[in-house]
Amino acid sequence: MKFSEFPYKRPDMEALMAEVDKDREAMKNAKDYDSFLAAFKHLDELVSHVNSMEALASARHTIDTRDEFYKDEHSFFCDIMPVLENALSVIYKEVLASPYVEDLKKDVPETWFDIVDFSGKTISDRIIEDLQQENKVAAEYQALVASAQIDFDGKTWTLAGLEEKMNDKDPKVREAAHKAYWGWFAENEEAIGDIYDRLVKIRTNMARKMGYDTYTPFGYLRMNRFDYNADDVDQYRKNVLADVVPAANELYDSQKKRFGLDSLPVWYEKVEFADGNPTPKHSREEMVEAAAKMYSELSPETGEYFQFMTEHDLFDLDSKPGKAAGGYCTFFGDEKAPFIFANFNKTQHDAEVLTHEAGHGFQSYSSRDIFPSVCVWPTMESAEIDSMSMEFFTWPWMRSFFEEDTDKYYYSHLGGAVKFIPYGVLVDHFQHEVYAHPDWTHAERMACWRELEKQYLPHKDYEGVDVLERGGWWMRQLHIFMHPFYYIDYTLAQVCALQFWKRMQEKDPEAFEDYKKLCKAGGTLPFKKLVKLAGLKVPFEPGCLGDTMDAVRVWFKDHDPEELAAKAE
Ligand code: ZN
Repeated sequence: MKFSEFPYKRPDMEALMAEVDKDREAMKNAKDYDSFLAAFKHLDELVSHVNSMEALASARHTIDTRDEFYKDEHSFFCDIMPVLENALSVIYKEVLASPYVEDLKKDVPETWFDIVDFSGKTISDRIIEDLQQENKVAAEYQALVASAQIDFDGKTWTLAGLEEKMNDKDPKVREAAHKAYWGWFAENEEAIGDIYDRLVKIRTNMARKMGYDTYTPFGYLRMNRFDYNADDVDQYRKNVLADVVPAANELYDSQKKRFGLDSLPVWYEKVEFADGNPTPKHSREEMVEAAAKMYSELSPETGEYFQFMTEHDLFDLDSKPGKAAGGYCTFFGDEKAPFIFANFNKTQHDAEVLTHEAGHGFQSYSSRDIFPSVCVWPTMESAEIDSMSMEFFTWPWMRSFFEEDTDKYYYSHLGGAVKFIPYGVLVDHFQHEVYAHPDWTHAERMACWRELEKQYLPHKDYEGVDVLERGGWWMRQLHIFMHPFYYIDYTLAQVCALQFWKRMQEKDPEAFEDYKKLCKAGGTLPFKKLVKLAGLKVPFEPGCLGDTMDAVRVWFKDHDPEELAAKAE
């Protein structure tokens, strides 16, 4: 069956809740463990089906946001999912108190119990109003940013649209576009500062109602951080400052040299090469074909997976009118099928969809039979290891996408990974400071950002852009507003993916075997245990990033882009 034929039907809530109740009663009155488990499994099937319908409605809604039918279906789920989750959290509390809980531990992975435990600590009637308030204010940020109309070069631009000009080949165009972009943030600084202030206060208030002094420990619970805490993250930051920041600085230095500059103005940061960044050389059809060949050569498992994806048409890759922005990978439990959504734009991003999102897809395909269904996907930081590592495992095939730009691609891909880590840690560190000082003024928050920025990104040159000089960059980082503390996840995953990259460079035959093990485990283990299962070092151990970053530095010494260009001539 192709994706377009996957059947969709809106769940009948009344009938569903009646069935949920029946399972609840059956578990309560179970005479033995077998009948308890049967009801538990049936409940999981119900939940998996609702999630599957929700994912399908949401996917079809994002493919064409103008389609009224799926728009309605999507908002139907926005309304009913919290109701269902609330009902389930009550039932799962009863499961934990059941005499069969010890038996259940033999059939159900530990993370299921963690999920239930954490949701019990974060879902409560006491904070329902705060949660609604939080959603509303966060949506204000989204709406404000989406409403931006910026006059530039005789046209009106959105913030996202203007990014094209911010990456123009001509540095004069880039400079002017950057100034226009940040000019909008300067104009709207008061409004954005006020939105964030309200969010910080709502979140702090919510945490206090739940018995915490500050938002931070409560935020960690909401992010399902099962086996690490703020102290671990503090040690990780020290590791990044010690080993990643110096390596990133070397890259910025070499970038400066390539452009003959003494410092790197902000409009040079994203441009690696004077003659333009690498681009894929083929059409979408050709790239999917190249990916099919690549995955069949990589391993039998990846070959089978990608064949499944193409056979069932589980991609929507082209940009088209009405389609939502961005890219993602989701999963339909009914068909046990991953689905990849993207907006190809003829940049290196297109090839990365077929490696990064396809990595998420491979993980969910590998773990598709895991029970309960909520354990198919791991928590965020672990899920990104699967996708970011696939970007590296597919390196040997990148020539079939980038042709003569392949060496440039390697350089900017690996360099981008290294440069991203200090930024991601900065975004996280800033939030720790903000929630530790909920009464700070906007000016104090700005000053804090700039001070931390000087530690993590000392190369920054904002000359002439006052709002950035004062510490305003964070105002563009959506996660800070919408998903507090969700950002360090990408960096934790990246330092794990780089460990796989190092093992690949060393031709370690176990590297891909360990990766497959990791994908197969899905969400059955918490982060640290998954990392260990994959034979990787946990990023919270002091000094654990040193040898990986040494390998990265050696690689960059051997792959100077100017020497490469000279060799190619
Ligand atoms: Zn991802």
